[in-house]
Amino acid sequence: MQKGAILVLSGPSGAGKSTIINAAADEIGEYYFSISTTTRAPREGEQHGREYFFVSKEEFEEDIKAGNFLEYAQVHGNYYGTSLKPVREALEAGKLVIFDIDVQGHRLVRAKMNDITTSAFITPPTLKELEQRLRARCTDDDAVITQRIQNAKEEIAAIGEYDFTIINDNIAEAAKQFVTIAQAARLKQSQEESRKFIEEWLGKR
Ligand code: ADP
Ligand code: 5GP
Repeated sequence: MQKGAILVLSGPSGAGKSTIINAAADEIGEYYFSISTTTRAPREGEQHGREYFFVSKEEFEEDIKAGNFLEYAQVHGNYYGTSLKPVREALEAGKLVIFDIDVQGHRLVRAKMNDITTSAFITPPTLKELEQRLRARCTDDDAVITQRIQNAKEEIAAIGEYDFTIINDNIAEAAKQFVTIAQAARLKQSQEESRKFIEEWLGKR
């Protein structure tokens, strides 16, 4: 039986998703952060199995064929995907499972697990600020930054599909909002749990 809940975080690359999760980590209780698999090259400082599982295109496509992904999408010309097995295990253990995935991934998770999903879109206050942060992060070259900015312009249009918006101006304030959203996300009940509750409430069990 599904006991856990899902919290999807999306937002342009450079919006501050990792920064906010790290800032809030101590206050959101036990959670499982879903480590995605990607075909993009590791950035400096990134470790296989920590930020992502870095694989070749061929390996990724084998996993697709084997049905190993809960969802996957192509973002900025690379594959990114969420492996089903660890997510299922974390949900069965009753954990809050946090995803950092794009708007396509959010739609796919909603289609499969809408009843236990809460979502938040994280963005800097303006496109200009996003560009400044991507440049200050110094992890991507000009061409990659241009592509990420273009992608951000398209992604922002999906903001209305999310339960919450977090405008990441001040990190501490954004982290506080994230903690509130994570607490609410944990309280979501699956349809199965609701049905069980109703039966018990009616005294049928
Ligand atoms: P994401 O995980 O969404 O790609 P990051 O967490 O890596 O984004 O943040 C992108 C860059 O912006 C990082 O260099 C981070 O230190 C910086 N950053 C994050 N939040 C803020 C903020 N509120 N004000 C200024 N810089 C920020
Ligand atoms: P980055 O290359 O900056 O780490 O991530 C680029 C984009 O890919 C971000 O919008 C991030 O949310 C998204 N992403 C990361 N992992 C996944 C995943 O497993 N599935 C999907 N659909 N998107 C992902």
